[in-house]
Amino acid sequence: MQCFLLGTGGMMPMPHRRLSSVLVRTELQDYLLDAGEGIQVSFKELGLGIKRLAVVAITHLHADHCLGLPGILMLRSQVEQASGLTIVGPVGIKRFVEHVRSDLRSRITFPIRYVELRPNENTAVALKNDDITLSWAKLNHSVDCVGYRLQEPSRPGRFHPERASALGVPQGPLWGRLQHGDDVETQDGRIIRPNDVMGHTRRGRSLAFATDTRPCPGLDQTIWQADLAFVEGMFMASDKALAKEKYHMTVIEAATAAKRAQVRRLVLTHISPRYANAERRTLQDQARTVFPGAIVGRDLQDFVIPMPED
Ligand SMILES: [Zn+2]
Ligand SMILES: [Zn+2]
Repeated sequence: MQCFLLGTGGMMPMPHRRLSSVLVRTELQDYLLDAGEGIQVSFKELGLGIKRLAVVAITHLHADHCLGLPGILMLRSQVEQASGLTIVGPVGIKRFVEHVRSDLRSRITFPIRYVELRPNENTAVALKNDDITLSWAKLNHSVDCVGYRLQEPSRPGRFHPERASALGVPQGPLWGRLQHGDDVETQDGRIIRPNDVMGHTRRGRSLAFATDTRPCPGLDQTIWQADLAFVEGMFMASDKALAKEKYHMTVIEAATAAKRAQVRRLVLTHISPRYANAERRTLQDQARTVFPGAIVGRDLQDFVIPMPED
C-alpha cells in the first residue's frame, strides 16, 4: 500500500502547497481522499496516471476539499475506456457533481456511482471489496464532515512447509488445501488442521484520513491504531483559540489525539495559509513534543505502508 500526498494546504492553495488530498494505491486500484483545487497537477508531476482511480471519497463540501473533483472527472474522461468511478461523500456530493457536470456541459465518459453518507448516523462502511473496506465516522466541523479509514482484510498466517512434512503431509495438492483453510487426512488416517502448519493470522494494513475537525470521538475512531494516519494540524499551539473558533485543531491537539489512538505513524496536513513553508519545522517540533516521530507532510511526498510483521 502506497500513499501520495497530492497537497498539504488548507483553505486556499499557496505557492508550493496545494490543497489537502491523498492518493492511496493498492495492488488492485487507486483511491483518492479529497480533491482540492489543482491536484490534477500533482497527478501529472508524480506521473500517477488516472486510469486506476476507482474511488474518490470527499470528507466534506468545503471548497478546499472538493473543487478539484470536476477537473479529475474531466481528466479521467480523456482515458480510453475508463471504467466506472465511485464517489463517496456526505449528502450533497451527488448534487454538487451533477450540477457542475450539467452547468459546464462536461462530457464525462464513464458511469458514476454515488455513495452518500449521513453523518447523523454512526460510523459505517461506505464500501467493501476484495481490496479494502472503506469506513467512515462523523467528525466535528462547521459542516457535515467525515473521516475515512481504509482497512485491508487480515491475511492467513504464513505456511510452514517443514511442519507439514514433519506431520507426514506430502508436498502437493494437500499443502494447497491446508493453506486454504481445509483439514486434510494423511495416508495413515490422521487429520491435520491448518493451525498445525500455519502461523498466526496477520492483520491487514490500515490508513486513516481525518480533516477537518476538532478533537472528537469520531476522530479517535477513524485513526485508531492506524498504520498511517493523515490528520489535520492546521494551527500552531499559540493559535489555539483560532483553531477552536474555526473548528480545526492545533498540531498539539492533533498529536494528542493520535497518541491517544495509538497511531503508528502520524502525518500532519491541511496547514493554514497563514504559515510560510519555513514554519513547517516549528509546527513539526511542536507536534513532536507529544508524538515523537510526527511529521508535517510536504506536497508530493510519498509513503509506503509495509506489511506488518507476523
Ligand atoms: Zn479545509
Ligand atoms: Zn472545512
